[in-house]
Amino acid sequence: MNELDSELIRQKLISEGFIEVQDEKKAELILINTCSVRKKAEEKAIHFSRQMKNNNKTVVMLGCLAQHKGEELLKVSKADLVIGTRSYEKLIDILLDFERKSTKRAICEDLGIFQLKNRKVREGEFSSFVNIQHGCDNFCTFCVVPYTRGREFSRNAMDILNEIKQLEEQGIVEITLLGQNVDSYFDGKYDFSDLLKLIEDNTNYIKRIKFTSPNPRDMTMKVIKTIAQSEKIVRWIHLPLQAGSNRILRKMNRGYTKEEYIYQALTIRDIIKDVSITTDIIVGFPGESEEDFKETLDVVRNVKYDGAYMFKYSPREGTPASLFKEQVDNETKGRRLRELIDEVNKYIVERRKLMLNREFEVLIEGPSKKDFGYSVGKTFNNISVIVKGLYKPGTFIKGIVRGIKGHTPILEISGN
Ligand code: SAH
Ligand code: SF4
Repeated sequence: MNELDSELIRQKLISEGFIEVQDEKKAELILINTCSVRKKAEEKAIHFSRQMKNNNKTVVMLGCLAQHKGEELLKVSKADLVIGTRSYEKLIDILLDFERKSTKRAICEDLGIFQLKNRKVREGEFSSFVNIQHGCDNFCTFCVVPYTRGREFSRNAMDILNEIKQLEEQGIVEITLLGQNVDSYFDGKYDFSDLLKLIEDNTNYIKRIKFTSPNPRDMTMKVIKTIAQSEKIVRWIHLPLQAGSNRILRKMNRGYTKEEYIYQALTIRDIIKDVSITTDIIVGFPGESEEDFKETLDVVRNVKYDGAYMFKYSPREGTPASLFKEQVDNETKGRRLRELIDEVNKYIVERRKLMLNREFEVLIEGPSKKDFGYSVGKTFNNISVIVKGLYKPGTFIKGIVRGIKGHTPILEISGN
């Protein structure tokens, strides 16, 4: 979401005559888009801002941290301007005003959602994010998003389709639909499944449609079947678990039980052929006992994820869970995280082995950073693979998986 916001802001600045420089040393103005989901991201952003101020740059803090902390952030980050997620509509005016008066200030007004009428695609870009929904109403007790991004709001389906058509006309072949809870998408006429079908039926050059994130409590059979029948919707579901214990799930306000989650994940595996399932898991939520944590490991054993983002619980100011008693100590969180990563990795290796000697169509993303002379691409179920040779990003190639390096399958072009 922040990546897309940064890109839209960049385009807006360029269209207003600002000049982008590649070398940050040459920049006069630095905009930092911040995340406040976990403390580490917050600390990094503040550190970077102070560093840039020491180099005499004009610094603007944007994003969730800006929205959440306002004036306080102005002080700790030493930035010149703090502009919250809902005030981007005024960004240019605020910057020009600062140029004239040099008055430091924090602006966190609610001016609505920032959108660009005409999206421009960068040279060589083949994949784009598209917002379908803003904000979140779920109020999971650990999460800061509802406070920084505001109430849930679904964009009009036709506006979304028009934006996607603009993108495909400029060469985009893959889109990722973004929302905090895409399954509750509803614009008054189209639900999420209808939206997926609308996009599938009305695009010509888009070959892959991805989305993130669904919420297990709202995902319907209708959506699962739509994906199963589609030739464009990527066979990948990111299904955030957060925790396996029913007691903890209740305290998190997630709205599903361990049993419901496992049933849903296994139904998805049953109905969508070759689907990959990834997840987000938090360890050390307040009050999480060893038994609770074992329940999380048990879900991992049942679902056998293809990938996972795993985090230590990070108390966020203003959220209910930050005030809960029985905060888990950092050492225990660290140990549980390592144990969890080991367990998840076992199944990732097991699942990757199932890919051996099978043919896959891969969308090339670019040269591999780790493996010189190889390209990286994604299969139709969103697994990263490498293939020897340098292929143009955005092209599709077919090949057979002949080996696996760590978690990464190695593809050989069919016919070789
Ligand atoms: N809307 C998505 C998640 C968005 S936040 C959902 O409902 O799952 C992305 C991820 O950050 C979450 O899935 C969660 O695992 C993690 N996260 C959010 N708040 C956190 C916190 N306080 N501490 C640690 N991880 C957190
Ligand atoms: Fe945060 Fe996701 Fe829960 Fe919304 S659904 S409160 S974004 S974790």
